[in-house]
Amino acid sequence: MSQNPPALRPDLARAAIPDTARPGQPRIGMVSLGCPKALVDSERILTRLRAEGYAISPDYAGADAVIVNTCGFLDSAKLESLDAIGEALRENGRVIVTGCLGAEPEYITGAHPTVLAVTGPHQYEQVLDAVHAAVPPAPDPFIDLLPARGVSLTPRHYSYLKIAEGCDHKCKFCIIPDMRGRLQSRPAKAVLREAEKLVEAGVRELLVISQDTSAYGTDWKGREAKFPILDLSRDLSTLGAWVRLHYVYPYPHVRDLIPLMADPTNGLLPYLDIPFQHAHPDVLKRMARPAAASRTLDEIAAWRRDCPDITLRSTFIVGYPGETEAEFQTLLDWLDEAQLDRVGCFQYENVAGARSNALPDHVPEAVKQDRWDRFMQKAQAISEAKLAAKVGRTLTVLVDTVDQEGATCRTMSDAPEIDGNLFIDEGFEGLSPGDFVTVEVEEASEYDLWGRIRA
Ligand code: SF4
Repeated sequence: MSQNPPALRPDLARAAIPDTARPGQPRIGMVSLGCPKALVDSERILTRLRAEGYAISPDYAGADAVIVNTCGFLDSAKLESLDAIGEALRENGRVIVTGCLGAEPEYITGAHPTVLAVTGPHQYEQVLDAVHAAVPPAPDPFIDLLPARGVSLTPRHYSYLKIAEGCDHKCKFCIIPDMRGRLQSRPAKAVLREAEKLVEAGVRELLVISQDTSAYGTDWKGREAKFPILDLSRDLSTLGAWVRLHYVYPYPHVRDLIPLMADPTNGLLPYLDIPFQHAHPDVLKRMARPAAASRTLDEIAAWRRDCPDITLRSTFIVGYPGETEAEFQTLLDWLDEAQLDRVGCFQYENVAGARSNALPDHVPEAVKQDRWDRFMQKAQAISEAKLAAKVGRTLTVLVDTVDQEGATCRTMSDAPEIDGNLFIDEGFEGLSPGDFVTVEVEEASEYDLWGRIRA
């Protein structure tokens, strides 16, 4: 699977991203031809596929389908592209063609009528569509970064930006370090280049993801900056798009991101998706997570002092093995004090291979359900009060969809797929997805807002 010099072959990304396909995980091969622009396209496609839970196959034999990113600049390049498609068909048989030569689909299908699909240059969504049709994704809620709905096409105006793979922590309930290996950060230049291309292509919001976003770059030996996420965030914040950080592990250096978030002139949103998982030190210890929940409350207070508009989203696990009623009550009390804006909660369940399976005193299902209900009731009341306080405020929102009923938008506090919406049901006819609009908030429910466009 080679055409380009090794330094320009994105399929060699396997050198940086270990080949850790799990059983049943769909695997895609990539042959990338042509210029650096095509290379960037290939990188973007591979990044999206990885984010959606596909593995990248380093060879034809292991791939469920192969993407050939072609070049059509010169006749010799066209012939090389046709040869590459022929080789992929012979060696694998299931081939999706994209890139510059894809602008002449008949030229390709005339020579190779059995290709599965042909798409043109920069048609990322169509390539992903073709991959989904040829090799359906197999979402795994325990290790995928995106919600299951995320495997449907991301609208053009927002995009996930994956900055690293793997994790150096060893949380006992989690199998990601075993499945995906240790932290491997993408080079900052590659991340920035992808982000710039996305913004040039019309993306208005970048959703930065990895398993441990605040650890980004700490795997680089001899690095200049102690915490490269700070520089990366600063650079991304200048691109003219909203930048939203997901999966930020609560390290102390997270506080250094707050001044950047508080500055309304740059794109880094005052939004932290920071999975705390629990608040009782003993439970956190049994999870092998940092066990300093009281210090976390101080930290949250400091973040809010320096950035009053910050939105804090987190996820928690209730019914973790050994969790007592008193420990759970500590979590509820902590939530009362922390007043998080957005909260997700999972009932603990065993995952094959997780070390927590072997812990004593698993919590009965009925108790887990009861704790989940009580936790969500409190979280909902907090969310309702927080959103009610937004009524009367003027906010900038990003339009996601427009139909006959109205426009569905999001404020800076709402990540797509997981948070709430702001709905506009009057005067929305001139709006399009990707527009930024100024609205006055008129109404609020537990999770959503309604507003009207400010003249
Ligand atoms: S930090 Fe996240 S990805 Fe890493 S082991 Fe813990 S839960 Fe898993």
